[in-house]
Amino acid sequence: MGEDLEQLKQRLPLLDYLRQQNWIGQRAGQGPEFVGLCPLHPETRPSFYVNARKNLFYCHGCGQGGDLIRFVELSQHLSFRQSLTFLEQQSALADPDALLRQASAFYQQQLDHYPEAQRYLEQRGVRDPALVGELQIGYAPGGSLRRHLLAQGYSLDLLRRTGLVNPQGNDALYQRLVFPCCQDSRIVNLYGRSIATAFAHRFLPGAKGDLVAWESVGQFPSVILVEGMFDLAVLWQAGFRHVTCSLGTHLTSDQFRQLCDRPRTVYLSFDVDANGSGQQAAQALAHRLRAQGITTRRVLLPPGHDPNSFFVQGGDARQFQSLLEAAPL
Ligand SMILES: [Zn+2]
Repeated sequence: MGEDLEQLKQRLPLLDYLRQQNWIGQRAGQGPEFVGLCPLHPETRPSFYVNARKNLFYCHGCGQGGDLIRFVELSQHLSFRQSLTFLEQQSALADPDALLRQASAFYQQQLDHYPEAQRYLEQRGVRDPALVGELQIGYAPGGSLRRHLLAQGYSLDLLRRTGLVNPQGNDALYQRLVFPCCQDSRIVNLYGRSIATAFAHRFLPGAKGDLVAWESVGQFPSVILVEGMFDLAVLWQAGFRHVTCSLGTHLTSDQFRQLCDRPRTVYLSFDVDANGSGQQAAQALAHRLRAQGITTRRVLLPPGHDPNSFFVQGGDARQFQSLLEAAPL
């Protein structure tokens, strides 16, 4: 799986693993040793010792001892090889960053090979290759991720449990442009935008992560919040770097907290759609933000527009700047 044994053992310390398995240990003296009941044989008085510094265990009752892998071999009745796979699975489920990073890198490599994906980007006004790289935009053609990740040593069961592969065993993302969703700079999800007839928006199971690029955007005294990644992409391309995106009009509580993490002005530039849902969401959000002491302004795009279509249909940076300046409180 491209990761050696020592790295795995470092990432998943023996004591942490045992505690995840509900082992209860007390400190034995002042040193790095913990003692508790042995998980490998029945006993009533604790004789199972764990040295947290050396990452080793020893039981004075049954005489078994060793490292994390040895413990998994004995407790799960697995071979050495199987124990490794088991542990890699456990650690990937707890933190899918490494796996999702592989998937995202694979999708980014695919982008250049599929003209339909290129055409779609063009239609959405995304022209700058540097921006495509910066946003880590990839393409999921469907039908090739599973093979790629199995070849890397990931198990099909793990791919199913993270949702990259559906219960039928097929790639979950199919004919979609893919953006990684991050939290504290780790990838926690993938967002797929359909370029065909399937439902437009799709995430893997789990949280959608932070506001996009919040580490940099959050430094600005005023920020522009948009709904969609292609809104963000064209605005960044036009030089508005203080734009972030919530991937939908509904903000998670973490995303809401991020907007409120210091005094600032938030420009809400949601869709101006016919049924008014974008603007209703913007109004409701503005109300909640003001209650937290945040200044809000609503960017009034022409009817039927979102920031992406505004630029795609000929709007330019100067015109958008005037809309910002005219945005009512
Ligand atoms: Zn024992």
